[in-house]
Amino acid sequence: MNSRYDVVILGAGHNGLVAATYLARVGLSVLMLEKNDYIGGATTSQKLFPDYDARLSRYSYLVSLFPEKIIRDLGLTLELHRRATASFTPYVKDGRHAGLLLSNADEETSRQSIVDLTGSDAEHEQMKRFYGLSRVFAEHVWDTMLEPLVPKEEFKRRFDVDDISREAWRSLAEEPLGSAIERYLQNDLVRGLVLTDAKIGVFTHPHDPSLLQNRCFLYHLIGNKTGEWKVPVGGIGAVARELEQAARKAGAELLTNVDLRALDLNGTRKTVEFEIKENAGWKLAPPSGKRQTVEARFLLVNFGRNVLAKFTDKPYQPDATDEGSVFKINMLLRRLPKLKVKKYPAADAFCGTFHSDEGYDQMNLSYEQASQRRLPDKTPCEVYCHTLTDDSILAPELRRQGFHTMTLFGLDAPYWLFAKDNKTMRKRAEKKFLASMNQWLEEPLEDCLAVARSGSLCMESKSPVDIEESLGMYHGNIFHDAPTWPFATTKEQAGTWGVETDWKNVFLCGSSALRGGAVSGIPGHNAARKVLGLIEKTPST
Ligand SMILES: Cc1cc2nc3c(=O)[nH]c(=O)nc-3n(C[C@H](O)[C@H](O)[C@H](O)COP(=O)(O)OP(=O)(O)OC[C@H]3O[C@@H](n4cnc5c(N)ncnc54)[C@H](O)[C@@H]3O)c2cc1C
Repeated sequence: MNSRYDVVILGAGHNGLVAATYLARVGLSVLMLEKNDYIGGATTSQKLFPDYDARLSRYSYLVSLFPEKIIRDLGLTLELHRRATASFTPYVKDGRHAGLLLSNADEETSRQSIVDLTGSDAEHEQMKRFYGLSRVFAEHVWDTMLEPLVPKEEFKRRFDVDDISREAWRSLAEEPLGSAIERYLQNDLVRGLVLTDAKIGVFTHPHDPSLLQNRCFLYHLIGNKTGEWKVPVGGIGAVARELEQAARKAGAELLTNVDLRALDLNGTRKTVEFEIKENAGWKLAPPSGKRQTVEARFLLVNFGRNVLAKFTDKPYQPDATDEGSVFKINMLLRRLPKLKVKKYPAADAFCGTFHSDEGYDQMNLSYEQASQRRLPDKTPCEVYCHTLTDDSILAPELRRQGFHTMTLFGLDAPYWLFAKDNKTMRKRAEKKFLASMNQWLEEPLEDCLAVARSGSLCMESKSPVDIEESLGMYHGNIFHDAPTWPFATTKEQAGTWGVETDWKNVFLCGSSALRGGAVSGIPGHNAARKVLGLIEKTPST
């Protein structure tokens, strides 16, 4: 390890790895410093249950927003598989269990399933019209994500070309999303299905005047212009592994188990003081416990602005919309549970996004109840079974025996519910989310879980408090803070890369940059472009 680098990157999430690779490839010396004992941050697969050889995507799991351009630029090999089912929503009609299945493979199946639910074709047609708006938005927006920010007014002018573009702008960027949902769609379940994409990871409701729900919705619908979420083969950890290899190959140095002690951001050269918590076996790593100092011309910050604030005299001033809202359960199953609905095989229902208690009115109620600082009576959640699309994350023996992984992502679970007594609330929330799923199953999910040698069930739950503790994400916000608009909302932002900070040559390269959030590599790319632009202007200090 040297004492001087061109670039030091704080944190080794996937965005930091993207930035490191771009910068090291042009010959800059790059050092990454990571507090955890692994690389990848929220983009990691881990063997969570030591008795079983199954590598679960511990935090993030699906990919939509990772641009083809970054994949090409960095020569990455990422295999992303399409899920045969987009979504499945079980419901009870006239006392009988039924399900709404939207297929990725066959539109007629989706149409018929909506007709079964609503009694006519109208809702299907309206749904297509509604999603047409986000398609138009994606067309206008997607390619700009890897360019400097365009002022809002100019952006709006780009939509002023035809009726559908103008309607897309109004419905998605100006009025609360709830207005368009209610204008286009009549069925409560279909409305709820659409709304979930506006609530993933954040605490909001259809008519939220902050338009947080619109921003969250756009992030879920614009990826690579299709908004389709795909399963990374080998789990989400395969994305981080591929990026780690690219960064190392380009010459970046990576240190884990780093205990960051102090930053000096004011001088021409930035200084970083740290200790190694425990020597993780890196041959060239400094000895643990001894304080190290490195200097850098550029400092890139991969973790959130909340973590950065701890090392500076500028306090972090979060907005109410920055609050995280998520409950994740990672499970290993011995077998897929049987469904009460008989029309669709469990494998079709579980291979897409399985929605439970996510009706529109139901989610208005769960939001209201969580706002009153209590766990909602009915906890909305969605469940994914990735091994139905890619079983390579299971050892052959487990595949043969019919094992599967299952992920539950819970909504309306804001940080404050867990802040006071995380352990008790985590247990209570876990019980509620499992009960939500069990109402659709012939056998309780618990009976299908694998059992460890110790006798415990193979299930791990993560509240926003746990997520903040493990990764530093502010109040468990999976995007570091509230998702931002894809355009500049102030004069100062216009023309910038959205990565700038109060300090010269210190840039955000992670999700807390403007247009950060999700597994996208976008802020990593944009921070690298910012640095490369500056180097072109002043090649050396
Ligand atoms: C439960 C969950 C589910 C999600 N699901 C999806 C999904 O399916 N698809 C999707 O696109 N997105 C998803 N996301 C969001 C996505 O994972 C993140 O937005 C993204 O991975 C963040 O990447 P990053 O590189 O910007 O930051 P991070 O991954 O947060 O990386 C920051 C790094 O900084 C390190 N760090 C923190 N503090 C310090 C310190 N003091 N010193 C040194 N290092 C430090 C952290 O350990 C971490 O490695 C999910 C997130 C969560 C939590």
